[in-house]
Amino acid sequence: MPDHDVLIVGAGPVGLLLACLLLQDGLRVVVCERRAEADERTRAIGIHRPGLDALDAAGIGTDVRSEALRLAGGEVRSRRRTLATLAFAPDRPVLILPQPRTAALLRARVCALAADALVTGCTVRALRQTADAVQVTAETAEGPREFTASMVVVADGVHSRLRGELDIGWRRHAGRASYSMLDVDDPEAGDRAVLHCEPAGLVESFPLPDGRRRWVVRNGADDDLRCTDDFRAVIEERTGIRIGIGRETEPTSFIAAQHRATRLTRGRVVLLGDAAHEISPIGGQGMNLGWVDARRLAVELARSLPERMPELARFEWHVLRSASRAQRRSAFYMSMGAPAAAPVVHGRELLMRALGAPPVRGWTSGLLTMRGL
Ligand SMILES: Cc1cc2nc3c(=O)[nH]c(=O)nc-3n(C[C@H](O)[C@H](O)[C@H](O)COP(=O)(O)OP(=O)(O)OC[C@H]3O[C@@H](n4cnc5c(N)ncnc54)[C@H](O)[C@@H]3O)c2cc1C
Repeated sequence: MPDHDVLIVGAGPVGLLLACLLLQDGLRVVVCERRAEADERTRAIGIHRPGLDALDAAGIGTDVRSEALRLAGGEVRSRRRTLATLAFAPDRPVLILPQPRTAALLRARVCALAADALVTGCTVRALRQTADAVQVTAETAEGPREFTASMVVVADGVHSRLRGELDIGWRRHAGRASYSMLDVDDPEAGDRAVLHCEPAGLVESFPLPDGRRRWVVRNGADDDLRCTDDFRAVIEERTGIRIGIGRETEPTSFIAAQHRATRLTRGRVVLLGDAAHEISPIGGQGMNLGWVDARRLAVELARSLPERMPELARFEWHVLRSASRAQRRSAFYMSMGAPAAAPVVHGRELLMRALGAPPVRGWTSGLLTMRGL
């Protein structure tokens, strides 16, 4: 009999949430994480209704609510004018909590459920499938380590090396651009997001908990705004807003791209989270979607293990379909903030005004808060 029912590769937010759900179901779970220390990079901040439901199911919804900022709504602007104002319905809240805090709460929950479930400093190098198990070879500071598990969930992120080893394709989809980002102190940050869809490119800003604000700027063809002064100058040029930047570090740049795995399963191994689909951060749904997928997978695994091999065709169909929908939405959001000539800017301003007008406003905010995903 294998040592574990499920081995999860990667203790990102998605792998950790799955671990919580499976441990609660009484399965024998181990999570292998290559990092020895927690990942403090600030990436996801937005938590939507389906994500919050998943966090509730994992037992940390109350903690997340108490630390997070609740976004009241948002404004879409262009050329110094407000095109649309949206409020989020009480039943579809958007919470803001930096990813390192969410991950820390998930890690603490995993450790509370099973003190030895999380193995850090443990890089999975190889998977070998036998008739009734997967043999996993990992590398640790103390030397190689072997595990066996009935199922392996590969949640090792967008640059998944194991996905390639499993010979699973990684197909590119519409939506690709470069952005720069910086979180700054802002005691007046409030509780509203502002999206400036400017002719020279998007500038967006989101309030963060603890009196801070995140600014994201779409880079022009020749920009790579890694210098604070350039970052501030571009925001002022596009929006007329001069942001105060104090003790923060330099902006970071990232490429927003979209990919989907061509399949999710290979025998007893299944891809999950960013390893399965990359959703552009513009729209902020990748982590939330990974949690929704994790809930679906947990149901299928708990239904079958340890006795039977899980049947994952339905899971795979749902995941790929909702990823495709989320990617279409994100590609649309990205196009609204692309640098554009006057006629295009005029056309998209009309469209954004229409999407923010009372008859369709509710539908638009549903779209932004992951309705239907
Ligand atoms: C700028 C930015 C903003 C974003 N904003 C949002 C947002 O607001 N809302 C949202 O929903 N999403 C957002 N996202 C997306 C979100 O960050 C990702 O979807 C999320 O991190 C995916 O989680 P994951 O657990 O699948 O992968 P990851 O977070 O990448 O975790 C993978 C883990 O696997 C580990 N690992 C890798 N290889 C191995 C190995 N061989 N062995 C062991 N461990 C391994 C890594 O060290 C890592 O800890 C944003 C992304 C970016 C870049």
